Amino acid sequence: MQEIYLRKGKDASIRRKHPWIFSGAIGSDTSSIEDGSLVRVCTNQQEVLAIGHFQKGSIAVRILRFSGEEIDQRFWNQRIQAAWKLRMDLGLLTKDNTIFRLVHGEGDLLPGLVIDFYGGVCVVQCHSIGMLQCIMEIVDALKEVIGGKLKAIYHKSKGSLPRSVETQDGYLYGSIDMPFYAYENRVRYSIDWILGQKTGFFIDQRENRKLLGQLSKGKKILNAFCYSGGFSLEALMNGASDVYSLDSSEKAIALTEANVSLNTFEGKHVSVIADAMDYLKELPLPFDIIVLDPPAFAKHLDKKHKAVQGYKRLNAHALRQIKSGGILVTFSCSQVVDKSLFNHTIISAAIESNRKVKILYQLHQPADHPIGAFHPEGEYLKGLVVYVE
Ligand code: SAH
Repeated sequence: MQEIYLRKGKDASIRRKHPWIFSGAIGSDTSSIEDGSLVRVCTNQQEVLAIGHFQKGSIAVRILRFSGEEIDQRFWNQRIQAAWKLRMDLGLLTKDNTIFRLVHGEGDLLPGLVIDFYGGVCVVQCHSIGMLQCIMEIVDALKEVIGGKLKAIYHKSKGSLPRSVETQDGYLYGSIDMPFYAYENRVRYSIDWILGQKTGFFIDQRENRKLLGQLSKGKKILNAFCYSGGFSLEALMNGASDVYSLDSSEKAIALTEANVSLNTFEGKHVSVIADAMDYLKELPLPFDIIVLDPPAFAKHLDKKHKAVQGYKRLNAHALRQIKSGGILVTFSCSQVVDKSLFNHTIISAAIESNRKVKILYQLHQPADHPIGAFHPEGEYLKGLVVYVE
């Protein structure tokens, strides 16, 4: 295993268990190290601090272990076992809920790895070349840990790795005939990890959907940026009278309609294919509740200012038109827009739209998307439930 040496004084963050080494902290020559290799991270005094995956770029090493101990099959089994145990302890695998995130990168001490669980199927997504190279160890660990409950493992890393990296999506264990159904909060969904966005479903909104359900009885609701309809279904299953699901993507609306047809409820469902910003400028009817869950407006720090403007405009349109006594449920999944900035943005939207508001709930990502305490960058999803007087 090759070694990299930190510059003098650059060991503080790794001693605090932050899982990334930035290229600027490295004092030795790394030009001969291949992307994806395991490296030992040492101080300039030769003390071994950690082992991680090397990859050229701003984050040069993603730490797997804060010691020099080898990374073997036992390591993968233990980390995946710990992640599985946490989800079981959280009560996420029941008759009514078979969808959860099993591994959430740094939050599960496995930087660069995401594994989502859908009723026995694991969808594995590698975000680093090092993880990609360990895929077979990961597969073996999943078989060992999940045992008889495991139906299949699907590998889907295309799009989450640098373009130059060759990778083939496909089954690494078992295979599944589509359609495949799984449950979240008792709602039945058809999940397609092959054709769907990300791993097939936005698992991070489970608890926030449940909260919307509690507010939904008898209400007229607009679910903008609906993708496969999670918020719509939760509202309908909890007695909403009318739910409008809006997305600019025809495919997303088709997924929503398929999921709507899998469940039984009394309310009315309407699909809208449109740009949310255009639609919100003039709504066809007054809504009691509007849900806004747009894609990340800023993926990088340099887009932060524009993203904030975008969130403000979008939310101002919604606030201006929502019924008196109505509720806005609004989210941002842009990691660079933090909680406090998002709150300020929504408050400025309320001022601009001349509505009196109060904040009822501050929302965030659920426990199966844990935030490593030493890795605050892992916090990305935030939301507000705002009462409009
Ligand atoms: N709320 C969803 C996840 C949203 S993902 C859930 O609970 O599953 C973001 C969605 O926004 C995608 O489906 C994408 O097609 C849609 N989208 C992106 N830009 C849009 C726009 N300008 N208007 C409407 N929908 C848009």
